[in-house]
Amino acid sequence: MDNSTFNAGLLDFIQQSPTPFHAVASMAKALRGAGFHQLLETDEWQLTPGERYFLTRNGSSLIAFVMGEKDIASDGLRMVGAHTDSPCLKVKPIADVKRYGYYQLGVEVYGGALLNPWFDRDLSLAGRVSFVNDKDELHSCLIDFKRPIAVVPSLAIHLDREANTGRTINKQEHIPPVLAVVDENDSINLHALLTQEIEATHKQSRVSKLLDFELCFYDTQPPALTGLQQDFISGARLDNLLSCYVGLQSLLDAPAERTSLLVCNDHEEVGSTSASGANGPMLKDVVTRLCGEPQVMMRALQNSLFVSADNAHAIHPNYADKHEMNHGPIVNHGPVIKVNSNQRYATNSETAAVLKNIATRVDVALQSFVIRTDMGCGSTIGPITASELGVPTLDIGVPTFAMHSIRELAGSKDAYALHKVLSEFMCADLNITSTS
Ligand SMILES: [Zn+2]
Repeated sequence: MDNSTFNAGLLDFIQQSPTPFHAVASMAKALRGAGFHQLLETDEWQLTPGERYFLTRNGSSLIAFVMGEKDIASDGLRMVGAHTDSPCLKVKPIADVKRYGYYQLGVEVYGGALLNPWFDRDLSLAGRVSFVNDKDELHSCLIDFKRPIAVVPSLAIHLDREANTGRTINKQEHIPPVLAVVDENDSINLHALLTQEIEATHKQSRVSKLLDFELCFYDTQPPALTGLQQDFISGARLDNLLSCYVGLQSLLDAPAERTSLLVCNDHEEVGSTSASGANGPMLKDVVTRLCGEPQVMMRALQNSLFVSADNAHAIHPNYADKHEMNHGPIVNHGPVIKVNSNQRYATNSETAAVLKNIATRVDVALQSFVIRTDMGCGSTIGPITASELGVPTLDIGVPTFAMHSIRELAGSKDAYALHKVLSEFMCADLNITSTS
């Protein structure tokens, strides 16, 4: 696969995945197509060496793995982690609002969204809905309105002369999207809209009672290649669907002899503490079942490497002073190893050395990021997984601009470069034993 084919697949994956539920469904489809068998966590597992498997939890997190033919205790696991969620506007449980002649939906802000770019966008709505059908059975299904159905209009500058210098956004007051112009007697409501949408898209479903939902607004503008020479990819949810896609493509290529694994967790943007988040037991549960005996698992983990893939901050030409002068990653100059001595990233000198060595073998340059000493550092699933499992870990990601905007920007060469590195990693003899 070449760079442009890879990017075409990435853009399509992002467009098909407006929510973590849809991202997991997209990945599951690709895995099934590549011969991975779906496991249920409620079943007893009989794993065959050389076979490929995957499972999901809550429909929003996924683990896929190749059960290697080699002895897992001594050969370890090559693990890649990413996250399926992105900051967004999530619909409140009782969301219908009618005021001043408009129909709106109340929203919560999920994660650390950069809110300004959410204004004046053609938004659609997607997520998971649970209902009782006409046969009195409980069902959940995914829905995606796909078409633009809502906007958060800006306030005109004439009504806020300070908008370009001192604009503030009140999350409760200013961001409920507007869906329609209505009169007082209009019976429009979210339950009716959802019922209509479910019955239109899932033809066999008849909704007798709608029970609950988790819905996200998203930007309908598809991701695109942009720049004079198509140097950039712009799109929503690059953090972190880009890394999910890179990890997935790398696992699809992984050989049968060694155990390799991809975990894509939900809830990273809100701290990872959930049943399906990285600060929950999901990965440990699966590794325990892969290894069987506790001794085997402990030996295997110390022979393993966990690569936490999540985007990094590229140095911005208009805000260059926000970066440390020796650590300003440039877009299209390669994936970035992230280091923080206060353990906001889990990279250490040995795990970095292993990956640098692997990158050299596939001729990919890596960059390095450390936050300015006078600024606080972000974090991701790397340190959380490292402390949950005690596994040697490294944080890496492609350089991007506008992280947590509704439209982020990455380089058009870095995702493919990271894929080359992770594909090689999935085949690698890790050999990270210290010499004394
Ligand atoms: Zn992220």
